Amino acid sequence: MYDLLITGADVLQIEGGAAHVLPRHAIAVAGGRIAAIAPAIDVGLARETIAARGMIAIPGLVNAHAHMAMGLFRGVVEDVPVEEWFNDYIWPLETNLTDEDIYWGALLGLAEMIESGVTCVADHYFAMDEVARAVEESGLRANLAWAVFSGPNEEPTLARTARFVERWQGAAGGRISAWLGPHAPYTCTTDFLARVAVEAGRLSTGIHIHLSETADQVAQSLAAHGKTPVAVAHDAGLFEVPALAAHVAHPTDADVSILASHGVAVAVTPKTEMKLALGVAPVADLRARGVTVALGSDGAASNNSYDMLEAARLVALLEKHTRRDARTMPIGEALALATREGARALGLAGVTGELREGLQADIVLVRHDATHTQPIHSQPATLLYSARASDVDTLIVAGRVLMRGRRLLTIDRRRVMREAARRAARLTSRRSDRRIAHYPA
Ligand SMILES: [Zn+2]
Repeated sequence: MYDLLITGADVLQIEGGAAHVLPRHAIAVAGGRIAAIAPAIDVGLARETIAARGMIAIPGLVNAHAHMAMGLFRGVVEDVPVEEWFNDYIWPLETNLTDEDIYWGALLGLAEMIESGVTCVADHYFAMDEVARAVEESGLRANLAWAVFSGPNEEPTLARTARFVERWQGAAGGRISAWLGPHAPYTCTTDFLARVAVEAGRLSTGIHIHLSETADQVAQSLAAHGKTPVAVAHDAGLFEVPALAAHVAHPTDADVSILASHGVAVAVTPKTEMKLALGVAPVADLRARGVTVALGSDGAASNNSYDMLEAARLVALLEKHTRRDARTMPIGEALALATREGARALGLAGVTGELREGLQADIVLVRHDATHTQPIHSQPATLLYSARASDVDTLIVAGRVLMRGRRLLTIDRRRVMREAARRAARLTSRRSDRRIAHYPA
């Protein structure tokens, strides 16, 4: 007996960098996994059926770099350079956050992710026990890292985040993994990074960090340490454990070799990187040299959404534009970055990110019956270049339906929006004498 049967869906398959669909297929789910994908499966064999005629079934999207609770700061600062963005706005404002704010901010982000087809998120933020609680309730899959900086409290902070890892590793029925989150080499001393690396080894866990976001950061690192941020992280031992590096917009040739040889995954966040004028990683070059590249949203204070279909579209457009080559980053490859490669970056290859028998049933059904998606000549093209987040109809994680017919089943949408609105005014009062860290200008 199957727990769930999806019938009549066009099922997206991505092999290598090529996408195609299995037309009008059924997907059977049992014990949280995909039990079968076949042209027809008897509905009498399933406890529950979802008729998905006219919809495309896709692997759940993976958001490999987010700061979910930053949705509370959506639109608060725009059109300023990155140092002003951090020093005059975001880092002063983040001193206002309470644990409870972060819980509700995370739930707001989780609701938006479910509504836009994301089944797995790598979140990097503060008060991560609150985020983990929100993830557990939402039903999503997540990789969670507690962001830490150097400073007077770095030892107790690191100890607290280690306890967080011990508490949440493998929690929520295995949906949650917990890594360490040193913020960046420009906010952490090399000594501190080395201690984080030792702690990650002791805990048998990974690390999630920001590296080489701007050309200035690379120049400052060369001036201060005689090496790039990637080399600083490597020499501190951070790449001896599974590692996920956000942005890496300005890698040197030697950096790419280090990333490839240590299996360090890079999460690019094209919208933030363009909007804050950071620069964007050479995605096709990184991939050609064996680096795993995933896609992220970054926080919604810079993005300003958690729309991963948009991220996949942007990375394809950017690569084509930058390289002046329309053949680069074809549809299947852009969709792979948002799914299979995201899973690989989080150590979840063969667990999620593909629609294949035996993998976790992380499945999204997308409607293709709107004016902006008709007529259909190619389902993958429609998905990447025409579909909107609001076309996502149904979302399933580990076989559990979290949204059906666009109705959220695990999150009280109206309450979350009310809580976010109620907190907005207090959170945006700025005091210039307080900030959580300093961005080197
Ligand atoms: Zn970030």
